[in-house]
Amino acid sequence: MQATVLIIEDEPQIAELISLYLKKEGIKTKHALTGEAGLEILKQGGCNLVILDINLPGMDGFEVLQEIRKIESLPVIIVSARQEDEDMIMGFGIGADDYVSKPFSPKVLAARVRVNLKRDSSSASAANRKLAFGSFLLDMDNLWLKKDGERKELSPKEMALLLVLAKSPGRPFSQKELYEMVWHNSYGDLTTVSVHIQRLRKKIEEDPSNPAFIKTSYGFGYYLCINEAADDIK
Ligand code: CA
Repeated sequence: MQATVLIIEDEPQIAELISLYLKKEGIKTKHALTGEAGLEILKQGGCNLVILDINLPGMDGFEVLQEIRKIESLPVIIVSARQEDEDMIMGFGIGADDYVSKPFSPKVLAARVRVNLKRDSSSASAANRKLAFGSFLLDMDNLWLKKDGERKELSPKEMALLLVLAKSPGRPFSQKELYEMVWHNSYGDLTTVSVHIQRLRKKIEEDPSNPAFIKTSYGFGYYLCINEAADDIK
């Protein structure tokens, strides 16, 4: 199947250049000059990846990304000329899959597109990963958590934390590990992790002070217990 990439970029020459290189790779492209126009194209379906410029007239790239995440889980590569954006993208885990700084080589960008398309198709071809615990169901691909069929609202960081724990149930993660995996940073205040764990427990646990699912591994960190009964026997 031929992939289609949506380029959201207000500079037509840059968009044309990207488009030219992607076409050489056998990839179809669509182009939007604004975030608003890009979202309209996305809603029509048929796109496999988005290349998103941050500095756009009207909605900026960050706002566009937030909207994209409400409707689609496709890979998004952010392109930006501003150094401070890189810190923001890396530090806040805003849901971008990759980042390329301007000025970039179109060849490099095309290579990143290929990698991200491949990654996405291999995860899509695998069975949709869902994890059930208690009366919860977590969809690890579409990023939702439901309790008795009702959707629970989690912040992006809470969801990211839960995902790390849910991908290896029973395996304890240290605060440092969780910090690195969720905040993509090696240096920082590790209490951020415990604060977010507490918030997550408030949303998930019947009794947050005596959690059934997000357990503390004393002196180490946290793990997700998906089998309450078995844990009680221990
Ligand atoms: Ca721009």
